[in-house]
Amino acid sequence: MKKNIIELQKKLQTLLSAEKDNYLQGKVANYIPALASVKPDLMGIAVGTLEGKVVGAGDYQHPFSIQSISKVFGLVMAINRIGDPLWKRVRMEPSGLPFNSIIQLQAEKGIPRNPVINAGAILISDILTSNFSSSKFAFLTYIRKLARNDNIRIDNDVYLSEVKHGHLNAAFAHLMKSFDNIESEVPDVLSHYFTQCSISMSCEQLAQSLLFLANKGIDPITKETICTARDAHRVNAILSTSGMYDQSGEFAFSVGLPAKSGVGGGIIAIVPGYGVICTWSPPLNHYGNSVVGMNLIENIAEELGLSIYH
Ligand code: GLN
Repeated sequence: MKKNIIELQKKLQTLLSAEKDNYLQGKVANYIPALASVKPDLMGIAVGTLEGKVVGAGDYQHPFSIQSISKVFGLVMAINRIGDPLWKRVRMEPSGLPFNSIIQLQAEKGIPRNPVINAGAILISDILTSNFSSSKFAFLTYIRKLARNDNIRIDNDVYLSEVKHGHLNAAFAHLMKSFDNIESEVPDVLSHYFTQCSISMSCEQLAQSLLFLANKGIDPITKETICTARDAHRVNAILSTSGMYDQSGEFAFSVGLPAKSGVGGGIIAIVPGYGVICTWSPPLNHYGNSVVGMNLIENIAEELGLSIYH
């Protein structure tokens, strides 16, 4: 067991070293200044296994803006809170469009294609805002519990930038409200959404906190049920078809794991029955996915034979 951990650690280090200069192929998100100023050459990888060990290399303990990775936690919270009626308000189909495209939403009468594009995550934010007395606090508490770390925090600079530059996200919310698919007041919903995007976590914390999705909904350490096995299956299915946005098909083709990226440069990949991989490298490709992160996950999945399609 100890030997396996040391071997895995070595492997991660080797894979990371091979990516050393590849961050130059991407561009750090620059839609808000708080993200544009992140050092582009930081990179890390962590692998959490169902035995409860998290192994990492590089900057795997460095907190970064989780951005759209927060959509995974929000989805699980909303499913647990309202159950199947959720699927009347958001669908489970890939959008075939960029994560922040608004063109489908009007044609489809304010029903987002899935919960992990921006429109869908704003819809989920409405469910949380409407069903928790303080949804932001509930969200942070939930993540801290899953990661077993009370120091996880919201980056206020990122939050303020998100608010200032959030006109397109506001447009999603208003458009859905015009179709009666948003219950709470739009400013409250947006404030929740921007808050969850602004949480900072490390690869180590993310790998730890999502192990339940690799374990049929059960936290492998505490044995607590975080969601049902059916819902873990459903979340993983959505991540497989839509988690890497308009590159989800290519990711399934080359890697074969449920995954979710964020414009902060993080990616989480769920390996059912094994654990969670989390990578971080800020420069993105034009789909909004981390260039180095995609390479790292592809390489580790291949080396360890982790694809769910084998
Ligand atoms: N805060 C970003 C947005 O709302 C999150 C998008 C992402 O990480 N893909 O556009």
